[in-house]
Amino acid sequence: AKQDGKGQFSFFEADMDRKVRDWHEMEHDLREAIAAHQFELHYQPLVSLRDDSTVGFEALLRWHHPRRGLVPPAEFIPVAEEAGLIHEIGTWILETACAFATKWPEQISVAVNISPLQLGNGQLPFTVASALSKSGLDAARLVLEITEGVFLNDSDQTVTALNQIRALGVHFAMDDFGTGYSSLSYIRQFPFKKIKIDQSFVRGMLENPESLAIIRAVTNLCQDLGMIATAEGVETPAQAQALKLLGCGLAQGYYFGRPMPAAETFRLFRHDNRL
Ligand code: C2E
Ligand code: CA
Ligand code: CA
Ligand code: CA
Repeated sequence: AKQDGKGQFSFFEADMDRKVRDWHEMEHDLREAIAAHQFELHYQPLVSLRDDSTVGFEALLRWHHPRRGLVPPAEFIPVAEEAGLIHEIGTWILETACAFATKWPEQISVAVNISPLQLGNGQLPFTVASALSKSGLDAARLVLEITEGVFLNDSDQTVTALNQIRALGVHFAMDDFGTGYSSLSYIRQFPFKKIKIDQSFVRGMLENPESLAIIRAVTNLCQDLGMIATAEGVETPAQAQALKLLGCGLAQGYYFGRPMPAAETFRLFRHDNRL
């Protein structure tokens, strides 16, 4: 029995060793990823439920690792945050997304995800201003998606930075709404333009009365406060129809379009006679 216990412990240790090695290796590889052009932004359409038209895209980061292949953001963004690389990577994301958005029709917006750590050093307002001026993108076409995680560190300093960015004309969306503890208190502290209803609510909305009630409540809240409700993770026409009936303004999900390489986004404007 002792032997077994020790064996299991060694196995566990070996497993930990591998994870630590993996983490260090990934951190090392991440340091080279920008210069080696291994990052790419994919874009997922945001669709108006009124007429199914594309009103914008969310930029989603992809890493083509030379040996591991495509690494999902959920695996490497925590490593980039821990290693302090998220500032450099975040700047690349903002500059690339703003520059690309200038190629779309002028009513189309671009949403960029911001890590809570990017708000930690006071530089983000300058980074955003610089991405806008380098690209020439109208600030009103840029939306920054933040989670309530940004308020958890130094809430005062964060709100100051958010207001500086807001003063540039940039808009904000509260991402993953409903999954945290106090999202409601944050929409009182800062003027969000959009609330993104987390996909966990959308997934069960037709089977689960609680999920449906929560979506209805968030949609009504948005209407009362002049915000736009956006449903994430819409995968079926039945979900899209139900969301439309609830008065939800925008939707995003595999039903409307998967995240796609930049060049494919133009297909969505083919029928737009302004082009
Ligand atoms: P998120 O911001 O909530 O992004 C939405 C995620 O849901 C994306 O996963 C997207 O591909 C996925 N998704 C979209 N529609 C559907 C659907 O209909 N069904 C399902 N099951 N999933 C759908 P992705 O691209 O793997 O990104 C995961 C997370 O990684 C993002 O969650 C975000 O937190 C983070 N992330 C992605 N790109 C960036 C970035 O450029 N910067 C930062 N800081 N974080 C990023
Ligand atoms: Ca997002
Ligand atoms: Ca989300
Ligand atoms: Ca998320």
